Amino acid sequence: MPVNKQWLLVSRPKGQVSPDNFRLVESPVPDLGPGEVLVRNHYMSLDPYMRGRMDEGKSYAAPQPLDAVMQGGTVGEIVASNNPGFVIGDKVVGPMGWQLYGKSDGVNLRKVDTRQVPLQAYLGAVGMPGVTAWVGLNMIIAPKAGETVVVSAAAGAVGSVAGQLARRRGARVVGIAGGAAKCRWLVDELGFDAAIDYRAEDVGAALDRHCPNGIDVNFENVGGATMDAVIARMNTFGRVALCGMISTYNHSGPVSGPADFARVLMRRITIRGFIVIDFLPRAREALAELTPLVAGGELKWKAHVVDGLENAADALGLLFTGAHDGKLMVRISPEP
Ligand code: NDP
Repeated sequence: MPVNKQWLLVSRPKGQVSPDNFRLVESPVPDLGPGEVLVRNHYMSLDPYMRGRMDEGKSYAAPQPLDAVMQGGTVGEIVASNNPGFVIGDKVVGPMGWQLYGKSDGVNLRKVDTRQVPLQAYLGAVGMPGVTAWVGLNMIIAPKAGETVVVSAAAGAVGSVAGQLARRRGARVVGIAGGAAKCRWLVDELGFDAAIDYRAEDVGAALDRHCPNGIDVNFENVGGATMDAVIARMNTFGRVALCGMISTYNHSGPVSGPADFARVLMRRITIRGFIVIDFLPRAREALAELTPLVAGGELKWKAHVVDGLENAADALGLLFTGAHDGKLMVRISPEP
């Protein structure tokens, strides 16, 4: 009998998340009831939102329960089915969590086609991060041709798609990322107009250099000092899609807003936070644009794959150091 392996959240982090907050356990593979399917996961996604879910308290989603399988998106394969909508061998994406096998009634599973787009991409450019980028860009900031757009965490899963979509709409795109290699990738391969290595240079001075006419639009993923440097250079009627504030996720307590908040008034800046789940009815439209672009190689993406479910708890920390390069995921079992 195959054995299931699962990561449970066993304690809530105080500040920095640690592998000690999790425990790896073995359990029987679940039996299926009527209408249910069994999925063997091939890859699980590691995402910044997971840090917030580990905390107690009111947020846009309920906290991850303690002593329960850590929630998260996966791609995998149907290995048993009591559901007429799925047959053995179907590839699916869904919220199956940090485990080798998961069962589902199929409602949250979406069948995916791996003939043109590899399975890994369904956790990135044609998955939740890609849809997030599409929503932020189209629904929140809608950059116009000729406008200057600044994207932070630009080499990441969301930022890399947001920047490429903004370029496709004719905007001038400046990315902010950590390290020379990520910055080179943005300019040389993704077609960004410029990239700023925030680890090596002063972000404000670099923004002055690369955005001589100011900043019209900001796709913000980092918050904190990075966002302050951008807001300080925004043009009148500038727009900010506040997608994430990853620089603050491991801090306790409330997070303060832009340091120079008066500028939001004086420059009549619109800052709008958004959460992708509020836009799920638009996901089909987003994927209809993203999927052919990824299949045709016009929208570029990278995966950073950590091997082995047992390494998942350690790997989560990479998101907060930037030591990964591309959409972070864990290979749980080999693709056939
Ligand atoms: P990424 O692939 O971008 O990985 C996270 C990156 O954040 C790291 O690689 C690192 O990039 C950067 N980073 C981490 N800590 C810091 C720091 N202290 N200062 C500056 N940069 C930092 O992750 P995602 O693309 O999945 O997510 C990007 C953002 O989008 C996050 O804020 C996330 O919460 C948000 N998000 C929001 C959603 C929504 O619905 N609003 C949905 C999905 C994601 P580098 O190497 O360049 O330092």
